[in-house]
Amino acid sequence: MRSRLSRLPTLALLAIITAGALTPATVVARNTDAPNGRAPNTYKPAVKPNPGTESEAKDDAGNDGQAAGPVDRRTLSIGRGDTLMDLLATANVPTNDAHDAVAALRDIYNPRHIQAGQHVTVLFEPRRGGTRKFVGFEFAPDPLRSVSIARKGDAGFTSSQTEKPVTRKPVAAQGVIRSSLFEAGAQAGVPISVMMAFIQNFSYDVDFQRDLQPGDRFEILYEKLVTAEGTQAGEGELLYASLTLSGDDMPIYRFKGRDGRIDYYNGDGESIRRALLRTPIDGARITSGFGMRHHPILGFSKMHKGVDFAAPTGTPIYAAGRGTIEIAERSSSYGNYVRIRHNTEISTAYAHMSRFAKSIGRGARVDQGDIIGYVGTTGRSTGPHLHYEVLKAGHQVNPRSVDLPTGEKLEGRELQAFQQARRSIEKMFEESRGGMQLARTPAPASTEEKGCNKANSC
Ligand SMILES: [Zn+2]
Repeated sequence: MRSRLSRLPTLALLAIITAGALTPATVVARNTDAPNGRAPNTYKPAVKPNPGTESEAKDDAGNDGQAAGPVDRRTLSIGRGDTLMDLLATANVPTNDAHDAVAALRDIYNPRHIQAGQHVTVLFEPRRGGTRKFVGFEFAPDPLRSVSIARKGDAGFTSSQTEKPVTRKPVAAQGVIRSSLFEAGAQAGVPISVMMAFIQNFSYDVDFQRDLQPGDRFEILYEKLVTAEGTQAGEGELLYASLTLSGDDMPIYRFKGRDGRIDYYNGDGESIRRALLRTPIDGARITSGFGMRHHPILGFSKMHKGVDFAAPTGTPIYAAGRGTIEIAERSSSYGNYVRIRHNTEISTAYAHMSRFAKSIGRGARVDQGDIIGYVGTTGRSTGPHLHYEVLKAGHQVNPRSVDLPTGEKLEGRELQAFQQARRSIEKMFEESRGGMQLARTPAPASTEEKGCNKANSC
């Protein structure tokens, strides 16, 4: 009998992610005087001017011979619910100028994408007589990119951007799972975003609640993005990951196919994708499985025709597979309810949502992993959870009983190319690990391993 692990602390994790704390740290615009650690959601008219330091670089901005000193830089941050226009208004930029400058920005950046907490440096040129002229603004939407808007004489504003070149540095990590995969990942120094990708990719085959046990191991190879100055700028791709469950290795490798599509494959070149995700939600725990149970509201025993996943209100719910939205409406007992038809036989249904995702309506096409709605407690429900059903020919069935067709398998030259890519990934893993010897058998999973148990020590 397998002992169940203590629950993964993914709910807390989700809360962190939802709060945005895991998005890559915003790099403050160059040479701003904004103090670190400032609450990101408030306008802080950090208007302490910073004269002198940048003037040389900005002399050509709107220089019509009347400048009376170095460019004055004011750094503000976007307040919650505010737009770039609001910020420019706060900085006392004339409305017409602000409009023109934001219009110029649209060539390279969608101003609607700007986020609360984003630092923006607004540039003014002092004029004789004590007035000043707005000459542009700049900000770094991500650690690798900065955009800049500059006045161009009388011809309005122009936009430009610089991107820092990065190198991708492979990083290997491994660990033994003692209480949870997340904890093991954290101990090995793996960033949470990488662990999330890891879990997502294994969620086709692994039920993280039931299948993991202490002593299971993981390996991972991912990229770190590093700028020329040596600054870390987030994570690149997950190149390889492996879970060893009860001695059974399950490696996956990233590979770009001939058609340019990137996917993950097992050692035999079989896509890890399955027709349906086992768990259409991140980090939830199953609170009620498929089968008879005492109904908490109705008060008598009743067949539970789905699986309940407890998760905080607002947690995104994913389409378990590619398909067409058949129903997206409110019903009395199911609350906000979505049903997706995947093929002639199989549909999945999702109930009690707090709300539907944008553009989810009858007839809409969805891909596996698309967000279709958010956890809630609408309808006949005692608390926030997702009630998930798999329907076969219109009847609810146990999701675990549905034999999911496997995805594509690479063949011919593409398979050869994959095997080559796989070997180079494995080499990279060995090198990144610092030459330590790896006790991993390269043999692909075979049928006799299926009957494997602890006694025959396979
Ligand atoms: Zn339910």
